[in-house]
Amino acid sequence: MNLMDKVTSLAKRRGFIFQSSEIYGGYAGFWDYGPLGVELKNNIKKQWWKDIVYKRTDVVGIDSSIVMNPIVWEKSGHLKAFTDPLVECKVCHKRFRSDQVEGHEHDSWTEEKKFNLMTEVLLGVTEPKEKAYLRGEITQGAFVNFENVIKSTRVKIPFGIAQIGKAFRNEVTPSNFTFRSREFEQMELEYFVYPSDKESEKTFNEFKELRMKWYQGLGMDPKKLHFHDHEPEKRAHYARYATDIEYEAPFGLSEMEGIHHRGDYDLNNHNLKYKDNTSGEEYIPWVIETSGGVDRATLFFLVDAYHEDGDRVILKLNPKIAPYKVAVFPLLANKPELVEKAKIIYRLLASDYSTIFDDRGNIGKRYFAQDEIGTPWCVTVDFEALEDGTVTIRDRDSAKQERIEISKLQEYFDKKLS
Ligand code: ATP
Repeated sequence: MNLMDKVTSLAKRRGFIFQSSEIYGGYAGFWDYGPLGVELKNNIKKQWWKDIVYKRTDVVGIDSSIVMNPIVWEKSGHLKAFTDPLVECKVCHKRFRSDQVEGHEHDSWTEEKKFNLMTEVLLGVTEPKEKAYLRGEITQGAFVNFENVIKSTRVKIPFGIAQIGKAFRNEVTPSNFTFRSREFEQMELEYFVYPSDKESEKTFNEFKELRMKWYQGLGMDPKKLHFHDHEPEKRAHYARYATDIEYEAPFGLSEMEGIHHRGDYDLNNHNLKYKDNTSGEEYIPWVIETSGGVDRATLFFLVDAYHEDGDRVILKLNPKIAPYKVAVFPLLANKPELVEKAKIIYRLLASDYSTIFDDRGNIGKRYFAQDEIGTPWCVTVDFEALEDGTVTIRDRDSAKQERIEISKLQEYFDKKLS
């Protein structure tokens, strides 16, 4: 089995990611996150929000609606320019994005056509229904709220609006597991700066580095992460310049996040300006955007963490994003005094960390199962625990064990997770 098949199978077997509507054969480009997947994905989003919003004094968050007044998409250029090039195989009539035909069995293509990626929805109860769109990017929500945010908070240029939310694209070829989906989540920062080449370039470069370090800081292998500067002809319709952070996926180098210099493109389209209350100067700020895919990050964190040691699978996820931080076991499931003590410890830890209790099978099997879902620490309650109030902690990556007093467990985990 290749790495992608192994990760896909683990994701299903252990409850990270399932096909949407699987009992009806699934639905191309749609995915469900299971009990472990939702934890991993939430942890990634929480960490992003913490680093981008909470730790900075110049960024505020919003949560804008998925369906917006269709005028937004007209003004933003999406109805005209948010397109992919589409070709059809003349032999089997399958359609592809023209940059994704490699490896197809036939080589006879129709001429390239532009294909709009916006997903239409029909609203209202009377005919004809009103046509609207599911947002193709969460970005526009930040621009249309530009004035609201300025008026309701104390932000001043330079400042950022952050958002995490679902976006929808009518992708021609949803593929590579969750990598190219039709429904996905984005985590974006729109950062508004004074319109000057020097300042905007500086911010652009700072965010490039910051975002790269963010993925590395959460444990992604730096050797697998690359910048990819876009050639002018490959840039999206709004971008002055753009760089992708790419991950070396099993299916090739693949975009995980885009850092875009959007210039005054969007605020100008929406006819929005900024007034500096001190100098009285009025201008259209420029925008530097960091646009990451939550699902792509989740997928690549999983792929990157996947390790094998003989027949043992270890997901070496950074503890900050691991679904469970701690597993608590009684050494033997048929000794009520051990089970009771383990449950007390479980309850103690569960109020601070996502913790799992397991008393099935033997200890070896439980370690095996926790390694496979990336739980960094396993706490075992044995007979010594009843006598001297100590337990063993086993570390996922080194498989080393140490004894520690129960009263020091929280301190131990806090230190490891800080
Ligand atoms: P691609 O070239 O792969 O289609 P893009 O350049 O169109 O991506 P952007 O418009 O820059 O992507 O969107 C920002 C981020 O949103 C991407 O870096 C990616 O992580 C995520 N994203 C975009 N399209 C999809 C999709 N179809 N499925 C999952 N994530 C996506």
